[in-house]
Amino acid sequence: MTRSMQSFPSEASHRRQAYGTKVAAIAVFAAIFLAPVLVPAQTARPNFRRHPVSLAKPLTVYFVDVEGGHAALYVTPSHQSLLVDTGWPDHNGRDADRIMAVVKHADLDHIDYLLITHYHADHVGGVPNLVQRIPIGNFIDHGPNRETTNAPTQQGFEAYQAVLAHSNAKHILARPGETIPLAGLTTTIVSADGKVIATPLPGAGQPNPYCKTTPTRPQDQTENGRSDGIVLQYGKTRIVDLGDLTWDREMQLMCPDNRLGRMDVYVVSHHGWYPSSSPAFVDGIAPRVAIMGNGETKGGTPSVWDIIEKSPRLKDLWQLHYSAEGGLQHNVAAAYIANLKGASIKNGSDGHYIRLLAYPDGRLVVYNSRTQQSKTYPAVQ
Ligand SMILES: [Zn+2]
Repeated sequence: MTRSMQSFPSEASHRRQAYGTKVAAIAVFAAIFLAPVLVPAQTARPNFRRHPVSLAKPLTVYFVDVEGGHAALYVTPSHQSLLVDTGWPDHNGRDADRIMAVVKHADLDHIDYLLITHYHADHVGGVPNLVQRIPIGNFIDHGPNRETTNAPTQQGFEAYQAVLAHSNAKHILARPGETIPLAGLTTTIVSADGKVIATPLPGAGQPNPYCKTTPTRPQDQTENGRSDGIVLQYGKTRIVDLGDLTWDREMQLMCPDNRLGRMDVYVVSHHGWYPSSSPAFVDGIAPRVAIMGNGETKGGTPSVWDIIEKSPRLKDLWQLHYSAEGGLQHNVAAAYIANLKGASIKNGSDGHYIRLLAYPDGRLVVYNSRTQQSKTYPAVQ
């Protein structure tokens, strides 16, 4: 299932490091480590069966190219699924089709949970197209639209409400501190509707030294700051995906104490655009791998790129697109970019995705569907 990465071009690495080639023997470790986080599979809906956990299997995450929007499909070891956001409306259903391409790859016939982080068009816009293509078990969102003065946002919200009204799916209101019941991992909502968790995640809560060097910013008044954010923990592996959560809310989460702790994978907030990714947050979570859902002309701000690249534990940043704003100095090497310069302008993009395999011992494998090559990051000992 995991492609060999031996032919991955070493000259393309923008950070010198040895490629991990070992296939870790993780089963014993996983069996020991996973025991405390196992939760009973939820059977609230009649069509939901119990999902046995296969300890050696990875959590798989597909980062879909929705041209500067957000759509990330999490498929658990027991084949449950969580889709975070749906990309844009229109374009003849382009983004829903791209989501369906990875849905097919993951061999899913439904999506268990669809989390809508907030109501901007690049996140909620794809919902009407998507529900025509695949059943959704549960919709999760932060409640009412808080940016009613913005016409496209209100339109996106209303289109989503129409879908909810005609759906038999369960509707769940996201609240910080609650969990999404995916078997074998712990998926905690850490932000929703402008609020963040009041108490640290287990093991977190240490003072964050990066707060005092990070300037504060005024409270965001848009839907971005209302984003539902999640932290997924699978064994030792931790992934954070905060939608478009803004700098001010990041600092509420991270200062003065770091309520999240360290992360292995940072799903870069807000397409790598400057209103998010404060140093207090990025340096505080200190990811080993970051995956940025920028478009060629949206997101990928050089200042954010620098903050991520300079964060203390980073091995690699991956980009869904070349960033025009980043130019020569602020783009990663081509091997780490799913859609190269001009892809979206000339061809409507080829829609290449990035796939992450996250193993419970901390081993990560990142795959670029354009190059069809993978890179392995060994577990941190
Ligand atoms: Zn966005």
